[in-house]
Amino acid sequence: MSIPLKARAVVVGGGISGASVAYHLAKAGWTDVVLLERRRLTSGTTWHAAGLIGQLRGSANMTRLAKYSADLYRGLEAETGVATGMKQVGSISVALTRERHEELLRQATVARIFGVDVAEISALEVKGMYPHLEVGDVVGAVHLPLDGQCDPANIAMALAKGARMKGAQIFEMTKVTRITTAAGRVTGVDYEGPEGPGHIEADVVVNCGGMWGRDLAAANGVTLPLHACEHFYLLTEPVKGIGDLPVLRVPDECAYYKSDAGKMMLGAFEPKAKPWGMGGIRPDFEFDTLPEDWDHFMPILEMATKRMPLFETAGIHTFFNGPESFTPDDRYYLGPAPEVQGYWIAAGYNSIGIVSSGGAGMALAHWITEGEAPFDLWEVDIRRAQPFQKNLAYLKERVSETLGLLYADHFPYRQMATSRGVRRSPIHQQLADRGAVFGEVAGWERANWFANPGQEREYRYSWKRQNWFDNQKAEHVAVRESVGLFDMTSFGKIRIEGPGACRMMNRVCSAEVDVAPGKIVYTMFLNGRGGIEADVTVTRLTETAYLVVVPGATLQKDLAWLRGHVGEDFAVVTDVTASESVLCVMGPKARDVLSRITPNDLSNAAFPFGTAQEIELGMGLGRAHRVTYVGELGWELYVPTDQTAHVFEALMAAAPEVKLCGLHTLDSCRIEKAYRHWGHDITDEDHVLEAGLGFAVSKKKTGFIGREAVLARQEAGLSRRLVQFRLTDPEPLLFHNEAVVRDGVIVGPVTSGNYGHTLGGAVGLGYVPCKGQTAEEVLGSRYQIEVAGVRHEAVASLVPMYDPKSERVRG
Ligand SMILES: Cc1cc2nc3c(=O)[nH]c(=O)nc-3n(C[C@H](O)[C@H](O)[C@H](O)COP(=O)(O)OP(=O)(O)OC[C@H]3O[C@@H](n4cnc5c(N)ncnc54)[C@H](O)[C@@H]3O)c2cc1C
Repeated sequence: MSIPLKARAVVVGGGISGASVAYHLAKAGWTDVVLLERRRLTSGTTWHAAGLIGQLRGSANMTRLAKYSADLYRGLEAETGVATGMKQVGSISVALTRERHEELLRQATVARIFGVDVAEISALEVKGMYPHLEVGDVVGAVHLPLDGQCDPANIAMALAKGARMKGAQIFEMTKVTRITTAAGRVTGVDYEGPEGPGHIEADVVVNCGGMWGRDLAAANGVTLPLHACEHFYLLTEPVKGIGDLPVLRVPDECAYYKSDAGKMMLGAFEPKAKPWGMGGIRPDFEFDTLPEDWDHFMPILEMATKRMPLFETAGIHTFFNGPESFTPDDRYYLGPAPEVQGYWIAAGYNSIGIVSSGGAGMALAHWITEGEAPFDLWEVDIRRAQPFQKNLAYLKERVSETLGLLYADHFPYRQMATSRGVRRSPIHQQLADRGAVFGEVAGWERANWFANPGQEREYRYSWKRQNWFDNQKAEHVAVRESVGLFDMTSFGKIRIEGPGACRMMNRVCSAEVDVAPGKIVYTMFLNGRGGIEADVTVTRLTETAYLVVVPGATLQKDLAWLRGHVGEDFAVVTDVTASESVLCVMGPKARDVLSRITPNDLSNAAFPFGTAQEIELGMGLGRAHRVTYVGELGWELYVPTDQTAHVFEALMAAAPEVKLCGLHTLDSCRIEKAYRHWGHDITDEDHVLEAGLGFAVSKKKTGFIGREAVLARQEAGLSRRLVQFRLTDPEPLLFHNEAVVRDGVIVGPVTSGNYGHTLGGAVGLGYVPCKGQTAEEVLGSRYQIEVAGVRHEAVASLVPMYDPKSERVRG
């Protein structure tokens, strides 16, 4: 068979990722697919994986995808005739601390939402299933009977065979040397094959190049920030009497165990990993291993020997060390590269590529063939990657942390320790001097909370109240009763300019944006299904210029969405994030304190809600936007970055009572007001009407994206609604991914949660099925929220529990 000249899609890389993408594309009917592998199939990372298939994941959609993989792999052998070694031996995860136990119980709740079989078991029950284990200090455990283990290389080979059976073509010893593009679109690939160089014409190329993927992407200006690390396991000599045992994870000791043909495997997720490949990857790398490093592995082996004394006597058969790709946030990359149309990515699997690739391949194939992801995939969306993250020094330092994080406690609000401080606000130091404790999003350092003088400026993580709970409360009260200042410089800012800007924006936005200059419009960018691609404020600056303000984390996605929809209109989309800082002055006294540094009239008559004006600020000049995300009177001040320090100092000098507030307080205020958080409560999967945001969709305007889907849903009626919940017991906390229980039945996850210091309890949002039901019927049910296996009573509301008529906002 010779390599074709043309294909509908070319998949680069024949590891498990590429094999799964090709399999699912072919299954979706794209039989004209070609997969190219530079050496032999699986010879990168896939061949040497340990083969654990665990469905216990931290979030709702990752659980959904892992369950899909497990279900798929179970049937692959029958489908393709390739022995996959897939054994449903089950898995046990044990907790050695109370905090870890809570995490496991919370994950079990997430698993239950998606029908994954999971049971909470005691230390004694663990011992019953795993006689070799010391369980004296085990606090508790969870058992997933349908988890399993497999032979990773054969799973990949089975997927490749399945792809071929459905029509895909696979060529080994064929290296893609360049992905070709023209006018910002993929046109195909150049390759070097056994018979020399060649070219395949294709509109779609999928980079499944594993640890090679980053440099391949960079050649086209595509950001794919990943870096390899050394990853270790060892295998004992045969141990008498070892049969099939469940896969065992002891995350508190950074270890997993697997019985493998009478031998025991011990794998490590050590806290400080060894980045690898800084000098590049040898061109002939194929089924390669890396040198042993006993010193590095020893701390894990020592703990394992105490945990499972058989390691003391069983000889070591193999010490394995192989490279694997890790990403800055420990999540893999899937989806369309924002830089080049037709360029797709499935790479950077952070040592869970075997369990992830089945689901990821399915999701990506759906995305490519249907034009939209099957459900919300923001967590792993490639468009969350920031261009600066390509920096190798940044990556190298960060991945030394992210490998171990897989088995670390995934506490809420947990921050990375490495590669910090890259993006900072102009008043970063001033905030630090006043007690700011920073968190990081998209490289931005943001004040999450402010420590009191003398208080430790570090997080003390827990699943219960963390050490900043009272700081948040004080900040929250200040915003509700007096005035607070948030530094939101991390907002993404996008200018759309040109004679066609208005036409283009009116096509992209659900709300009418052909408004007078100075007006601010809250609007959605909808997709064809009525799902929410973004919720943003759009400020008309002039007849021909708009400013779109977006979350810092979604900037690249939102830029890509806007650029992808310029069409024939004469409009230019520019990222102006770094040009302005954003200081948000919020609270009933906001007008009073701002008036001390500006002569401009801030009265309701002169400066109504939903408008923007240039105003004097101290001796500088900025643009004040009268909007809020905390549900109070307030202004967001957009200040040129060069004047920000001056404006901040002028404000703090004139109004020392202004309380500096962090992001945790922003979130607790917004959830009381039931303001939706994109990526959690609203995503491209969530219909705008079901999200309760129909007010941001124009009734009069035609010709905007998503309108038909809005009309259709109006006609058909809602099938679910976003509901706000408050726990009646003030003690438990909600973060997200707890289960909403309606009349005794789990109906879905809590999409976001925080503590409502004014409402007096934890508050969360979540979708509730409502087909054919009135609002009264929806609210007439009994609601509970399951937190770590315990159900707590909740009150439910379809209107914001805090200030439902928004009287305070318009104050
Ligand atoms: C020690 C160890 C244990 C692991 N255990 C598990 C586990 O238990 N469970 C789990 O889920 N995961 C595990 N993993 C992770 C898993 O192995 C990886 O996440 C997964 O194999 C990644 O697959 P991939 O297809 O993305 O990458 P790869 O398998 O590396 O495939 C990428 C392929 O692309 C090819 N390629 C690159 N550039 C080009 C080009 N220009 N042209 C053509 N071809 C190209 C390469 O040759 C390579 O074959 C483990 C990893 C290690 C190292």
